[in-house]
Amino acid sequence: MSHSETTRVQTFIGDPVSDAPVVGRGELEEIFKDIQSDIRYDHELNGCLNCGICTATCPAAHYYDFSPREIVQLLWTENLEGIYDAMQEKIWACAQCYTCAARCPFENSPGGLIMLMREAAIKHGMESAKNVLRPFSRVMLKLISTGNQLSPDMITADGFADWGPNVSKIDAPLDILRKAIPMPTLNTTKTAWEVNLKTSVELYTIWEETGVLKQLETIDENLYDVIVDIMDEKREDLADWADTQDDED
Ligand code: SF4
Ligand code: SF4
Repeated sequence: MSHSETTRVQTFIGDPVSDAPVVGRGELEEIFKDIQSDIRYDHELNGCLNCGICTATCPAAHYYDFSPREIVQLLWTENLEGIYDAMQEKIWACAQCYTCAARCPFENSPGGLIMLMREAAIKHGMESAKNVLRPFSRVMLKLISTGNQLSPDMITADGFADWGPNVSKIDAPLDILRKAIPMPTLNTTKTAWEVNLKTSVELYTIWEETGVLKQLETIDENLYDVIVDIMDEKREDLADWADTQDDED
């Protein structure tokens, strides 16, 4: 997704890199510039005390070798190799709960910054992004082709026939959980994927214009092809429907 450039983007980054970086300095700088040039960066990084409050309150930091403080420090000190290294694994541990953003005395959003790093990882076709997103390809297929939500009660054998018998393992305990926690957002199984044709086609245009499809193509070409076929089909259906309306007039 492209955004207008922020005032934070520099033409010169002083961070010295090692003699033999994993990728060239030019690529390291380009990745950092992609993170930095997003309009959200200006709002999400205002300085860093290195106080560690974000890490102390971060649920992911309790379970993984991961620290939002460390990530923010890498960005704040413009540590090009450190940023690249964190994008290989650590940034994918974040649960995007934003507890860190609520606690940071500098009003930083470590979770938001991590999101920018994830988007840059996808844009640059990093293996880490492909590996993390691969198991969710079926979920992405539903989300992108319907443009609608995927709540837990939609993960059923009917909705995901191509998942085979394993889907019932997920489905079964959810039945009990749903009774225990009847969340209103889960009342959508029957309707959420029946999206109006015109709305679907408008959403597809949004996916194209905002770069979502381009990102998808970078990380999963097969899924991209399947989704483009679905989009073409729906566009044709809409055109056919529009023709019938013209005939009636
Ligand atoms: S991001 Fe905020 S909470 Fe985290 S170490 Fe820096 S100043 Fe402290
Ligand atoms: S948004 Fe990510 S980094 Fe921030 S507290 Fe939640 S899991 Fe931790």
